[in-house]
Amino acid sequence: MTVPGLHTPRIRVLPERVKNQIAAGEVVERPASVVKELVENALDAGARELRVDLEEGGVKLVRVVDDGRGMGPGDLELAFVSHATSKLSEVEDLRHIATLGFRGEALASIGSVARARILARRADDENGWAVEDLGGLIGPVEAAGTATGTTVEVRDLFFNVPARRSFLKRTATELGRCLDVLQRLVLSSQGVGFVVTHDGGRVLDVERGMDLRARVRRLFGPELADALVPVEARGGEVALSGLVAPPRFSRNDSARQMWFLNGRPLKDRLLTRCLQEAYRGFDDVKRQPVAFLALALPPDQVDVNVHPTKSEVRFREERKLFPFLLGALRAAVARTDMATPGAGLLVPAPRAPSWPGDGQPTWVPRAERPRAGEIEVREASPSAPDGTAEPALFEPGPERSGPVLQIARTYLARALPDGLEIVDQHALHERVTYERLKEQLARGAVEVQRELVPELVELARSEVAILSAHLAALGRLGIELAPFGPTSVAVHGLPALFPRRAAARLVRELVATLSEGGELPGPVELLEHVVHSMACRRSVMAGDELDERERADLLAAAARLDHDQTCPHGRPTRVRLTLAELERAFHRR
Ligand code: ADP
Ligand code: MG
Repeated sequence: MTVPGLHTPRIRVLPERVKNQIAAGEVVERPASVVKELVENALDAGARELRVDLEEGGVKLVRVVDDGRGMGPGDLELAFVSHATSKLSEVEDLRHIATLGFRGEALASIGSVARARILARRADDENGWAVEDLGGLIGPVEAAGTATGTTVEVRDLFFNVPARRSFLKRTATELGRCLDVLQRLVLSSQGVGFVVTHDGGRVLDVERGMDLRARVRRLFGPELADALVPVEARGGEVALSGLVAPPRFSRNDSARQMWFLNGRPLKDRLLTRCLQEAYRGFDDVKRQPVAFLALALPPDQVDVNVHPTKSEVRFREERKLFPFLLGALRAAVARTDMATPGAGLLVPAPRAPSWPGDGQPTWVPRAERPRAGEIEVREASPSAPDGTAEPALFEPGPERSGPVLQIARTYLARALPDGLEIVDQHALHERVTYERLKEQLARGAVEVQRELVPELVELARSEVAILSAHLAALGRLGIELAPFGPTSVAVHGLPALFPRRAAARLVRELVATLSEGGELPGPVELLEHVVHSMACRRSVMAGDELDERERADLLAAAARLDHDQTCPHGRPTRVRLTLAELERAFHRR
């Protein structure tokens, strides 16, 4: 009996080209992955000077030129073939891997989804050699003129995989990711010089001799670099070294938290947790500390082969490792300068009135309660440099009811016919500002307050590049910025409703949004995001002394809104104590 189709088995071994394209899905997600693999290869080849050229966020071109050991014609025959590597030959070798690469997958994967070309020459060879891989079609090795070292060019990423190409984000986003990868590599590779260009302009460079702090200064500016405190600890075969920042530099994202394991940048959940733990009590636990840390341990103590991009690892002796790290890090964090800038202006607050009992009465808003005798830290109020006064915070309100007390520069209290009301001035101010801005945006007319002397905000080079791509759109929201040198932007104007001193924070929030999500949100979403993230951090209004008129105006402005019971994040703006509640509290009933 014959069954039709019996002789043609359904299972087939996939052609090499298809295999590579599938594998590419794991290794190559976007231009940043190409950058990472190529730079790691160059570092593995002993490069001392590296040049990285990007075009259109790396989608059009990623070119890495190194002065490392190069390759001969025989190497080039195999360079684009999968599982071809010079770094490992037995599974046993995985136990003590010391190079950044080892799987022999990167070039094969990249070549299968782009137009790639390698030019290489060894020091003793008379000439160099070249080979191409055009979307999986590997060409012959040919003689070519080139300097000692290797150049790998990757053009038109995903030109033959439209589905993946469509997942790429706009240029600024892809560039941001490439630069994030490069910053990590630049900081982990001391002794190596880097020059990075994008569309022909220099975006990043460090010289070979620069140490970690000098590199941080070049990348992220002097304010951060000068505040960093060194960590240096050794426990058995493990060594930890690096720099940690004071808690005030902590951020919502982990763009400036870097771990390097035996010279390899990695993002490891446990290490991140460990660092956060080290800042506990000094910082809001939800924020990400800024630190640059190198961990050195014998290669057989760690398994790096758990993830295709090698960014996650497994430690063999976690139980010993973490207490050691935590101890060293906590000691370093404690040595950082915890004072808020402007500490010279410390003003002891008048003693906060003590609240009934020490247990928390139900009507007192949680965490926001000032502790008796607590010193309040207050930043200098930004006196406009040209002598003009700050714009009025609120339009004057018509109705003036009874006196409004300000408590601990945070709460406003006033009598109501039926009891008393305590308002969180910060939360309420946020709501008022938010509603006004929304209304102005809806009318297409945001009032901008321009500064004669712009405030400068220090950023990473990559962040300046990202912001630069959005200047016009931001301008339409009343946020007027201009790049000012490689690592700062000047804030020329802000919506008049924003407090002046929120400028730096606002810009940083913007950068964080833009580098995460990529797309510039629409005006209302942007507003929402900015207000949201600036808020609930007491940065805008808590701690501001309000005069009698400002207090009344704030309350009046809020009274005109449809909704003023919560801040834009849902925290209550006011707590009321009715007469009945007071009577119960005083046992009159
Ligand atoms: P892996 O790095 O895991 O070995 P790759 O596919 O990234 O795999 O590279 C394959 C091989 O090509 C490497 O093992 C190395 O021998 C060679 N190679 C790649 N890039 C370079 C370079 N920049 N300089 C010298 N040799 C290189
Ligand atoms: Mg490699």
